Amino acid sequence: AKSLGRNNFQIYAPSADLSQQQHVALKAKLRHAERNGELRVFYQPQVDTLTEDIVGMEALVRWEHPELGTISPAFFIPLAEASGLIVSIGEWVMRTACAQAHVWEKMFGLHLRLGVNLSAVQLMQPNLVATVANALTDTGLDPSCLELEVTESISVKTVPHLVESLDALHAMGCRIAIDDFGTGAASLDYLRRLPADRIKIDQSFVRNIGVDPDDEAIVRATIDMAHRLKRGVVAEGVEIEQHLNFLRANGCDELQGYLFCRPLPTAAFEKLLAERQRL
Ligand code: C2E
Ligand code: CA
Ligand code: CA
Ligand code: CA
Repeated sequence: AKSLGRNNFQIYAPSADLSQQQHVALKAKLRHAERNGELRVFYQPQVDTLTEDIVGMEALVRWEHPELGTISPAFFIPLAEASGLIVSIGEWVMRTACAQAHVWEKMFGLHLRLGVNLSAVQLMQPNLVATVANALTDTGLDPSCLELEVTESISVKTVPHLVESLDALHAMGCRIAIDDFGTGAASLDYLRRLPADRIKIDQSFVRNIGVDPDDEAIVRATIDMAHRLKRGVVAEGVEIEQHLNFLRANGCDELQGYLFCRPLPTAAFEKLLAERQRL
């Protein structure tokens, strides 16, 4: 694979080593993080499996804590969900990323697809569809460039209007992706009920390519099933050539992972697009 450049960011992931008290304090700080400009959106490229061209990117939020350094979303997103802060943080991520994608579209003349994660709490908001529509109108990004990633851990039972909301967003022209595919209890039901344009094969399967023949069989069958249903497939967590070769041989459409590039800050991603443009 062509290397898209290496960046090693230290991700501080406080978890077991935090006391209950520190946990509460961090939650309070998160409330001000957005206002204080401590949140950043990073972008990770998604590449075409055959050409390795960058065809899109996933927006991934980071918290640059003044004392603790970069805090992983795997840690603070659950905090933000529990406190409801995810609604404003999620909207901020969406607006920031849509505006940035529109800038890059004009700058490079590329019709890049932007993946934005939606949490269950956001999907429960009655005004979600209007929020997304406003973000697109205000930033000028074409709806077809925006791909909303809905994780399989969100259940149709706990989010009452999930199907209706996603249908409305899809009708607006946005794309829908099922994130972490294969890890939930309702993968096939999801595929049947949601207006999904594509699925993202979870990294736990990709990691076992070359290790576990059962997981390889699942990856292969997932790609085949998606294509029979006329959906696209992107594999996450592609870290080594062996993953790439297997996914290429089995017709996976797009790839995302450290083999190509880690999530990058805005300026670094822009530099990458500029370099690729000159090739
Ligand atoms: P996700 O949506 O499944 O995002 C993919 C995660 O895998 C990212 O972790 C990404 O950095 C990581 N990753 C990418 N390539 C590789 C690889 O080759 N190997 C390995 N081991 N990991 C790889 P990150 O950025 O730490 O985000 C973790 C999770 O936090 C995301 O998982 C998503 O569920 C959540 N998240 C991140 N940003 C947002 C956001 O803006 N809104 C919401 N609601 N959730 C977010
Ligand atoms: Ca995702
Ligand atoms: Ca995922
Ligand atoms: Ca995940």
